[in-house]
Amino acid sequence: MSFTVAIDGPAAAGKGTISKAVAARFGFAHLDTGLLYRAVGAKVLAGAAPVAAARALSPVDLERDALRTPAVAQAASEIAVNAEVRAALVAFQHEFACREGGAVLDGRDIGTVICPQADVKLFVTASPETRARRRFDEMVNKGMDVAYDSVLADVRERDARDQSRAASPLVAAEDAILLDTSDLTIEAAVAQAIAAVDAVYPDAG
Ligand code: C5P
Repeated sequence: MSFTVAIDGPAAAGKGTISKAVAARFGFAHLDTGLLYRAVGAKVLAGAAPVAAARALSPVDLERDALRTPAVAQAASEIAVNAEVRAALVAFQHEFACREGGAVLDGRDIGTVICPQADVKLFVTASPETRARRRFDEMVNKGMDVAYDSVLADVRERDARDQSRAASPLVAAEDAILLDTSDLTIEAAVAQAIAAVDAVYPDAG
């Protein structure tokens, strides 16, 4: 049986942590679709043409640690405005979503464009300042030398580009459950997401 959970929202709202926790709780597979765009962005930074890079993408391209840098994130959001790039990544996401045993996909357009029929849709958000602070703390913990103001500027720039693009903009699906994590602990946010899936998942025990 396939069962799809779509989790969308802006950068650093908590989607990744929530998606992994939901997948673990219900035994679903998890796809961080941002990695697809990051992998294409990284190839473009290395000199490839965006559409060709998206068409040639393979699962091993998603496994590189180097995809988690601010430069790759910006490159990803730049190529993500390209409708042909997005179209080249649809089939992979559809196949993942329809796999047996359930799937969680997190991204920007999963509930609106990729899986409008998803069984559960969550839109996870938080204020730009909260998200920048979380990203900043993560980077500092990894030993990176960054300034909070530049992380906040990056978050705002990426939000603006993701929300204003014509192709699959970042927007909550009408039937998505909104989860604002600004004032929630991660445990509380995860508990709310799990409760939302529990409410509709037939085999929940
Ligand atoms: O989620 P993450 O920060 O890894 O995403 C990187 C960029 O990829 C986003 O800023 C967004 O522009 C793009 N993206 C997208 N659609 C998705 C996932 C990510 O446009 N489903």
